[in-house]
Amino acid sequence: MHLKRLELNGFKSFAKKSEFIFDVPIIAIVGPNGSGKSNVVESIRFVLGEQSVKSMRGKTGSDLIFKGSREISKMSRAAVSIVFDNTDRVFHLEQANNTKLSVDFDEVVITREVYADGANKYLINGHEVRMKDVHELIASVNIGASGHHIISQGEADRYLNANIKDRRELIEEALGLKLYQYRIKESQRKLKKAEENMRESELLRREIAPHLRFLKRQVDKIEKAKHLREELAGEYRKYFAQEDYLRQVLTKKLDQDRDEVQSEYSRVRSFLDEYGDVDETASFQEEFDIKEAQEQIENINTKITHKRQELGRIEGMMTMLQKQQDKAVVEPEKKQHPGFSYSAISEFLNSIITQLDLMGTNGQVSLGQIKQRIDDFLKKPGESTLQSAPSVDNSVEIKALEENKETINRQVEELQGIIVATQNSIVELQNTLTEKRKQEQESQRQYYEYLAKKKELDGRREMITARDESLGMRANARNEEYQEAKVLLGVEAIEYQSILGGDDADVTAQSQEQFRRQIERIKIRLEDMGGGSGIETINEYNETLERDQFLEGEIKDIESTIESLENMISDLKERLNTEFDKGVQKINTEFDRFFKLMFGGGQAKLESALIKKRRKKSTEEGQLELLPEEEEVQEYGIDIKVQLPRKKVSDLDMLSGGERSLTSIALLFALSQVNPPPFLVLDETDAALDEANSQRYGDMVEQLSKYSQLIVVTHNRETMSRAQTLFGVTLGRDDCSTTLSLRLEDATQYAK
Ligand code: ATP
Repeated sequence: MHLKRLELNGFKSFAKKSEFIFDVPIIAIVGPNGSGKSNVVESIRFVLGEQSVKSMRGKTGSDLIFKGSREISKMSRAAVSIVFDNTDRVFHLEQANNTKLSVDFDEVVITREVYADGANKYLINGHEVRMKDVHELIASVNIGASGHHIISQGEADRYLNANIKDRRELIEEALGLKLYQYRIKESQRKLKKAEENMRESELLRREIAPHLRFLKRQVDKIEKAKHLREELAGEYRKYFAQEDYLRQVLTKKLDQDRDEVQSEYSRVRSFLDEYGDVDETASFQEEFDIKEAQEQIENINTKITHKRQELGRIEGMMTMLQKQQDKAVVEPEKKQHPGFSYSAISEFLNSIITQLDLMGTNGQVSLGQIKQRIDDFLKKPGESTLQSAPSVDNSVEIKALEENKETINRQVEELQGIIVATQNSIVELQNTLTEKRKQEQESQRQYYEYLAKKKELDGRREMITARDESLGMRANARNEEYQEAKVLLGVEAIEYQSILGGDDADVTAQSQEQFRRQIERIKIRLEDMGGGSGIETINEYNETLERDQFLEGEIKDIESTIESLENMISDLKERLNTEFDKGVQKINTEFDRFFKLMFGGGQAKLESALIKKRRKKSTEEGQLELLPEEEEVQEYGIDIKVQLPRKKVSDLDMLSGGERSLTSIALLFALSQVNPPPFLVLDETDAALDEANSQRYGDMVEQLSKYSQLIVVTHNRETMSRAQTLFGVTLGRDDCSTTLSLRLEDATQYAK
């Protein structure tokens, strides 16, 4: 790979299109002061993507465009193209996002244009690209934009002027390690970005965390409520099945009881209806019959008394008649009562008795009448029927009386017989009456018993009605409960299997009541948890969780990105350091050699030097404070140690201009020797050299040209003599630079 061509068009003093063909190892650009030689060097910087206009001796981009002269008007655009040979295909573009862009050609042409407004345009092989692409492309062939391989006028000692830190960077670049730096910077940028993303993701995650926790609690609650609802549904299913069963049992029992009570009631009712009302004063025929019989006995007794009185009179009469008869026998003609016969007296007395028997309560009147009659009887003895018997033979009368007595006695006996019979019938009647009364009492007792039973049955009937009502209420309550359950859990959840007709279940009203209370308690717990299925909350939770998990995953990804970036950075740094140390060692060998060559002795080397950096960190209060010693970040820069032959001078600042120049050249050439760039541009680097040193310089240039193409701007004839091609640059009459090239022989000739 080498430089093939350089084309300038409107760049600085090159108003007209100018072409430099670089087909030899050493090219010298020569010409008078101010002719535009340095502009050529700057055009190379420019086309390779130099960003510092100042380093190209301009203030703005438009300073790089031909400003116009008396003869040629100013231009609106400056364009520079550089053409590389790429037959060995060393150029490559890693991140070519432009698929049309390929560098797989024998030539690689890089073009840069700048416009009056300062706008830039980059092209690779005619395709417009970004500046970044150009940088990447040239980095792949070890030519950086800042150009360690382009040493502008007076810039040779920049390695000497730089501080140890910048020097290290310059050397890194010269060693071709800039790529590591790019990659480290790129990785660090990515790391920073990743850390930012990490902070953002973590912040987002922290932000949603309380909400997520809140939702989680809600969802847990909903989950719990769901389980509780399932439990409730299960309980309900069992409850309703049992309730149906219980109601069936209760209804059956009620029907049975009702039938039983009803039939009992009918029986009692019909008994009571039949019995009618109880007459506690009811009397019996026997009572009248007994009374009648007793009166009859009294009457008979009265009759018997009369009969006995009559018997008494008869016996008196008989006694009297007997005595009369007896006296006559003993004392015949004894004075007799003159006028009163027995029959007269008897008749009279009987009439009196009859009157007495007929005597009412007004007895006194009658007694007076009777007394009158007796007086009357006694006063008229002859007039009465009573006649004095002429003889005293009473036997006939006595006999008659005897017969009468017997008749009466028979009558009395008869009457007494009637009494006995009547008394017997009374006993019988009394027995019957007693029996009847007993029966009456018994039936009354039964009546009252039935009455009591009816009362009891009335109570039972009421109870049955109440039970019936209660069963109705129970059915209503069950339906209400079912409706509620349906609303609460949905009809499918409470679909239950009937246990009717199954085995006898151990269900009672009490057990069901307990069950119902238990269900009630679950409902209250559910109510406390808040209603609703919580679908929205669950969805929100899932979304938030998904977001959280996404962030978590992202954080993990970022973590691993950060880790791999950190690894990559430390790896790159390590490689960089290793490469750098190796490079410095090689440079030192060459540096010392070139130095000795230039100075005819002495020593020179690069040395690693610690840059003490007390990094500051900001405290929470926003103040800066020094880091403790152990946390100091140690960085190393590069120091240059020189020892001039026969001189004790080792400090760079004490070198003479020429010495300084020689040291710089030694270092520059050492760098180029170790990591040869494809080309090296040296703008009057040899300006300060004396004749002897110019010779040595020329030798070294020749040496270097084995590895790198050399473009030297020089006024030094010795240097010119080493070139194969000379480009002469002159400022024409029209105040713009013109070129002419001289071939090897001519160049040598020209140089002499
Ligand atoms: P020396 O040998 O003294 O170093 P040189 O050959 O390197 O000189 P340059 O410095 O390359 O000369 O050229 C400087 C010349 O270029 C100046 O005359 C300057 O006027 C001219 N120049 C610079 N910029 C422009 C521009 N934009 N338009 C026209 N001419 C310009």
